[in-house]
Amino acid sequence: MSSHFDVVVIGGGPAGYVAAIRAAQNGLATACIDDGRTRSGEVSLGGTCLNAGCIPSKALLESSELYHRARHEFATHGIGVTTVGLDLDRMQARKAAIVAQLAGGIQGLFRAHGVTGLAGRGTLMPGNTVRFTPHEGEARLLEAGQVVLATGSQPAALACLPFDGERVVDSRAALEFDAVPRRLGVIGAGVIGLELGSVWRRLGAEVTILEALDRFLPMVDAQVAREAERQLRRQGLDIHLGARVQAGERTTDGVRLRYDDRQGSHEIEVDRVVVAVGRRPDTTGLLDPLAGVALDARGCIEVDASCRTSVANVWAIGDVVRGPMLAHKGSEEGVMVADLIAGHAGQVNYDVIPSVVYTTPEIAWVGRSEEELTAAGIACKAGTFNFAASGRARAMEQAAGLVKVIADAATDALLGVHVCGPMAGELIAEAVVAMEFQGTAEDLQRIIHAHPTLAEALREAALSADRCAIHAAHR
Ligand code: FAD
Ligand code: AMP
Repeated sequence: MSSHFDVVVIGGGPAGYVAAIRAAQNGLATACIDDGRTRSGEVSLGGTCLNAGCIPSKALLESSELYHRARHEFATHGIGVTTVGLDLDRMQARKAAIVAQLAGGIQGLFRAHGVTGLAGRGTLMPGNTVRFTPHEGEARLLEAGQVVLATGSQPAALACLPFDGERVVDSRAALEFDAVPRRLGVIGAGVIGLELGSVWRRLGAEVTILEALDRFLPMVDAQVAREAERQLRRQGLDIHLGARVQAGERTTDGVRLRYDDRQGSHEIEVDRVVVAVGRRPDTTGLLDPLAGVALDARGCIEVDASCRTSVANVWAIGDVVRGPMLAHKGSEEGVMVADLIAGHAGQVNYDVIPSVVYTTPEIAWVGRSEEELTAAGIACKAGTFNFAASGRARAMEQAAGLVKVIADAATDALLGVHVCGPMAGELIAEAVVAMEFQGTAEDLQRIIHAHPTLAEALREAALSADRCAIHAAHR
């Protein structure tokens, strides 16, 4: 096998594997090094996203939601079920099969595009050389015209409550529980904490979520976040805001957590606790000290707007660099970098990156919130539409939530769209397209939406921004 490549990508997650495929599509001899393995030790491309993040969490969210509906909502539809059983082993096996199938798919894509996949660890050496240490066998040096660093992130730990892999676990382990904990603590009400809390709540756990911040989902428009919080509390998630965990200790049966809030200091005991307080960039063993790549204060690899590092011909993308830790953000950076390396145009519009929380209802947003815009002194107008008035949402028996459309008061340009409701993660795509094309509220108002669809709510919210929604009363 050749030891010289035009491009060597280190990391085969959604940032790295996408960069590798696009580089190969651009006619460049490309290798992608990844050290990912499944629980049973098999090599598995796809990174955190496929093996321990986006995909397994969505598989469990889907299964747990169906279980919850069968138990609590089928009767409303006139469907009688005598017993609804939970086979967690089978649920977990379904999830593992999805992951394995998709990981095999990436391997197939590498073969189809001529990307050389290398299983093992990569280290950037000085002079655009990469040391590749395979899972089995001797390390060897690869010469690379260009190197792309895409090593992702790892769960952040709490100093006061270190992971023990059994009672105090990270998100990866919380996706692998082989029994439903009776009492589950979740530290952090971010996207990951809310999704994992939802899974285990629906499957029967008593879930307590402790969040240090006073506000629920601060990056979401306050009106929409309030509704989301209300809906999640109604499902039995015991959410404590302004609650900072200060200490934790093992007891015979579980873990005792001490947290402080405005009222003082409190203790709760849980059987297991998921620490979901964020993720940190992963550069462990990646950079030879002489390679010269600069990191920022948070440990991210420093890059410019085009993802160039401080070293010529070395690029970095995905969770290991600044910006939201989202799979699609990393993938887009991968495409950009591979195109720039090939001499094509490439850019990422960091202002229009959608985010989704896959709870029920889903929460999705793109652009800025009304509070953010007001604080920045930008005059805006906002319109909302409740799913309660949507025929489709009613028919689905999922009429909780709302859409909020925010546009510039002077130019009508769309500045933000925030959704809490059924399929919010799919609905947000229309807003993303509109904003990417520099659309206005009027554009959304004039586009024909099929009836009855959930997407009509987006149009109605846009109409509402000008006080002319059809299915809402404006004063
Ligand atoms: P990663 O996916 O972390 O991939 C990096 C890869 O590089 C890994 O395979 C790692 O083992 C490998 N690696 C590291 N160092 C080396 C080395 N030196 N040599 C070789 N290989 C190395 N994002 C979304 O957009 N949507 C979601 O729904 C979503 N859900 C999530 C749910 C959970 C529970 C978690 C934990 C995360 C979720 N995320 C989601 C975030 C998403 O997983 C990350 O943003 C994404 O995986 C980042 O991609 P990446 O390619 O930068 O890094
Ligand atoms: P995210 O970064 O979106 O994954 O969210 C992680 C959340 O964890 C943030 O909202 C933090 O405020 C929260 N968090 C961090 N440390 C603590 C702590 N000690 N106790 C409670 N919440 C915390």
